[in-house]
Amino acid sequence: MLRVAVVAGPPAGWTAELEALLCAEGAEVLVLGALPPPAAAVASLVLLDLSLLGDQPQHLLDQARRSFPEALFCLLARYARRPPEARALDWGLWDALYLPAQTEEVRDLLGRAEAFFARRAGAEHPAKVLVVDDEESIREVSATLLEQTGYHVETAADPLEAIGRILQGGFDLVVTDLQMPGMDGVSLLRRIRAAQPQLPVVISTGYATVEATIAALRTGATDFIRKPFSGEDYLQVVARALRYGALTRANVELEGQARAEKSRLRERQYELLILTRAIAEMSRAVNPGQVAECWLRAADQVLDFSCAGFFLAGAAPEMVVMDRGGGCLSPEELVRSLVRHVPVLTAGTGGEELRVRRIEGGGAQPGAGAQTRVHVLGPAARPCAGVAMLHAPGADLTAQQAAFLHSLTVPAAQVLEKLRALAGEERLREEAMVAGMHQGVILADLAGQVLVMNAAARELLGIGAQEPAGSLSRLSAALDLPLDAAVGELLGAGVETLTREFRVHPPRERVLTLDLTLIRGDAREPIAVVGLLRDITELREAERMKSEFVTIVSHELRTPLTTIKNCNSLLLGGGTGAITPEQERFLRMAQVSVDRITRLVNDLLDIAKIESGGIALACAPVDLATLLRAIGHEAEYLLLERRLRLVFEGLDAPLVIDADPERLGQVFFNLLHNAVKFSRDGGAVFVSARACAPSDVPPAVRALLRQGDAPLVEVCVADEGIGIAPGDLERIFERFQQVEPTLRREHGGIGLGLPISRGIVRSHGGELWAAPREPSGSVFHVLLPVGPPPEHATGC
Ligand code: ADP
Repeated sequence: MLRVAVVAGPPAGWTAELEALLCAEGAEVLVLGALPPPAAAVASLVLLDLSLLGDQPQHLLDQARRSFPEALFCLLARYARRPPEARALDWGLWDALYLPAQTEEVRDLLGRAEAFFARRAGAEHPAKVLVVDDEESIREVSATLLEQTGYHVETAADPLEAIGRILQGGFDLVVTDLQMPGMDGVSLLRRIRAAQPQLPVVISTGYATVEATIAALRTGATDFIRKPFSGEDYLQVVARALRYGALTRANVELEGQARAEKSRLRERQYELLILTRAIAEMSRAVNPGQVAECWLRAADQVLDFSCAGFFLAGAAPEMVVMDRGGGCLSPEELVRSLVRHVPVLTAGTGGEELRVRRIEGGGAQPGAGAQTRVHVLGPAARPCAGVAMLHAPGADLTAQQAAFLHSLTVPAAQVLEKLRALAGEERLREEAMVAGMHQGVILADLAGQVLVMNAAARELLGIGAQEPAGSLSRLSAALDLPLDAAVGELLGAGVETLTREFRVHPPRERVLTLDLTLIRGDAREPIAVVGLLRDITELREAERMKSEFVTIVSHELRTPLTTIKNCNSLLLGGGTGAITPEQERFLRMAQVSVDRITRLVNDLLDIAKIESGGIALACAPVDLATLLRAIGHEAEYLLLERRLRLVFEGLDAPLVIDADPERLGQVFFNLLHNAVKFSRDGGAVFVSARACAPSDVPPAVRALLRQGDAPLVEVCVADEGIGIAPGDLERIFERFQQVEPTLRREHGGIGLGLPISRGIVRSHGGELWAAPREPSGSVFHVLLPVGPPPEHATGC
């Protein structure tokens, strides 16, 4: 509040009025009839009645300054010959108020006085004026006038010297002569404008013409004064120019502030955008790792750090690291600095190995990191995550950045908490689901430790409910089952799934299939293996009974067929007397049909044998080169019929393997026959053979081979025919599958050749599969082990 003393002689109506006005504007008012002795009263603004001052005011003014040493003095004028402001300035007073005063005038006066004290409190220096004039008397008069009014004054006679001083800065106003030797005022003005555009310059000249004044004003002069000038006029122009300068400075300052505010707003807007996006993304996250990534990506766009690690606490702790290239701590060091600040973070992790995921940061590199800043997410007693950020020393967060960090961290913690709760529920649901499944489920980590084994799996493997599952190798040894070997094969073969079938004995004999599937982590790295156990004992029994039935029926059919064939041959051979050409034609037709039925019955018998556990093999060393050439020879009549060339490749040297030559011959003849059937007339059929290593074999096929690392040979039968659609390449190996119904009529056959061939090859421990051939046709690959087939193939 401003304390105002009104020194006005005997009280009068106007003093009361003025007092009321001042009070209404919030001033504390002291009305005095005369000046008090020094230190008797305190006031910041002293309103002095003009009538007290009279025509010789200096004495009273000196006294007033002693009474109120810190105050501003304002002239109160109820009547005046000259404008009161002019008089006040003449006497070195601060301002003047003409009575009766209006509310606005009083408010303005008090406002300016307050601003004056505020400036003074802010230690604003008294205005500093440079007077440039070649006339010494003018310089002296001006300096005296200005100094008396409280300004700091410097003078210069020479414009060049003036320029030098102006360039050093510190002036609030320049008053310069317009006509000087060496350089005129306008040129000086131009140079001042170029160096200090905001510095007010007043032009003074004794010979000012209108044109020269206009030229000076156009060049940017703030005002002008004509010589000879009165002190009053001079000070008035100076005060006005200084006010103008102050206003310009304030304006520039305000503009700067507005610009800064605008850019702060823009920054805030950007941060809000990043925040909104990050929060939306985090709320869609399905696992904590995604939340960590969102958090880091948002922080990357706003904050300064050289690297950051987002640590996700829990049973399987994870660290997502963002390195922005300014030097990064190792994930372990980041964890250590986190734990140093928040020891409770790692509680319950049980010392599991830390999973580390690295993501790239896009933000600018903010200088080498040396200091670590830590943020904790979640409740203090049970935090769900923590972030350790490495930043350059002294790169403290601004209040705005700190607010951004807070706004980003709170929702991240909430989402993490929600995911933690959901994961708990999910785990319970999953456990209940797995426990209740009819199929046996075994989950093991890559080290072979069994993590989950449900009741059905325990029942199938004969393991008690309370018995510890232990490791796969322990289980395999105890149950005499190749469980760990199957997992080893799955991992070694580079495939996602693998199926194995085996028999278990206790407490009763059962046939089980084990479907193994690899489980991968977020970075597609294998982390575990899940095995599904199914009891297929009844299925196998039904298949055995069906095969038995087919075998019996086929056997029963074979006997009368043989009789019919023999009788036919007897009749055709003339053993029962001569037959007419017509009788012979009919008999030959019957013979062809009998042959077809015999082949069909043989095929049915073969497939039944294959399905009931494998074909009996009579193995011996077989030279594949010789066998393939013999089969080619056998199929010559088929090739001739279709005008097809048979091209052998790689059959120059012997390729000896342990196999059943009859059965292999059956396979190769079938493949060659199909190649002929599905070729266009006049083309070629290719048969090739080569020795190969297991590493040459496609992984999916390698997983199917019984003896994964045994040396192999590969036979290929290729044609340039109609080809097989990719979707049918596997289907054609199923029983009775013919790709196009129309082909059946065109090419004959019932769709058993390929399943039988595959059965025979697999009985040898090999594999048969089809692939497209470029540019047209198909290739059938037969892969066979060089050594003897697996033990269970009888006869070897
Ligand atoms: P089929 O005795 O009926 O030919 P397969 O089991 O030998 O029975 O063959 C099944 C089906 O596979 C055929 O009907 C045919 O559609 C397709 N197929 C077999 N080999 C070839 C080949 N070389 N080119 C095109 N399709 C073939």
